[in-house]
Amino acid sequence: MLQHRHLLGIEGLSKAEITTILDLAELYAKQNRSSQKHSTALSGMTQVNMFFEASTRTQSSFEIAGKRLGADVMSMQMSASSISKGETLIDTAMTLNAMHPDLLVVRHPHSGAVALLAEKVNCAVLNAGDGRHEHPTQALLDALTIRRAKGRLHRLTIAICGDIAHSRVARSNLLLLGKMENRVRLVGPRTLMPSGIEQLGVEVTDDMEAGLKGADVVMMLRLQKERMDGGFIPSEREYYHRWGLDPAKLAHAKPDAIVMHPGPMNRGVEIDGVLADDINRSVIQEQVEMGVAVRMAAMDLLARGLRNHKKEEVYV
Ligand code: ASP
Repeated sequence: MLQHRHLLGIEGLSKAEITTILDLAELYAKQNRSSQKHSTALSGMTQVNMFFEASTRTQSSFEIAGKRLGADVMSMQMSASSISKGETLIDTAMTLNAMHPDLLVVRHPHSGAVALLAEKVNCAVLNAGDGRHEHPTQALLDALTIRRAKGRLHRLTIAICGDIAHSRVARSNLLLLGKMENRVRLVGPRTLMPSGIEQLGVEVTDDMEAGLKGADVVMMLRLQKERMDGGFIPSEREYYHRWGLDPAKLAHAKPDAIVMHPGPMNRGVEIDGVLADDINRSVIQEQVEMGVAVRMAAMDLLARGLRNHKKEEVYV
């Protein structure tokens, strides 16, 4: 079981808790490949998805995960909600809270907004991405994908490349991979590298050849233009030339290195389209598949916590 009521970030998770989630997700991954995909971990429970930012993969993945576990799932269209009529995030959350959901899945453009909301409601809250802060289920699904491909999740060299500064995926991943004792390299233009990031125990370079040298895993990130307010890169063409992953740059990594991308991808900007589709190198589709399994595991474990607390009537 998890020691927390909410899943707000990788930061608060122990190594043992990460392993517990991944081990259970492994079972769900197997179940998801069978024709009997349903179980009852969330039966009788209500899951509400509140996405204040666009999402394809994450929202559908949480929705499928909840349904496979037997929950009543409602996905709210936040652009069509009272928020657009001026209601605050907290008022909306309190209104929903009065309907007694058990799990609230929230994505928000502002860092810290999901944690703030979690303080106000009685249910378990899962962070589906808050600003540039954290995206814990993405890091967990990436970890599961790596563990399945490499047979382990420690002592690997992992290069995370591209727009680090705006990426919650990079942040959650470097926290998780660091906890599991891997060597993490951040590769990208200096303008897209947060200052002082070296203090987190990662290596930093702006050179793809040096960054990819001997890597077991190459994780590409999307250029997050919606979070950029100025000229961070000379041009997309120049960016692709220097930092876009193509077969020539990948040749510096280990011959069996895997290629990852959280999606959505800008083909021809951060990654070569043919390489992204190469099933011998790219595990991008497997990442999507593992996303459902990891979200099932996380919600199952939080639900177990809720049921136990209810029994003992000790809500934290
Ligand atoms: N889908 C991921 C996120 O929500 C990555 C991205 O958008 O580039 O952070």
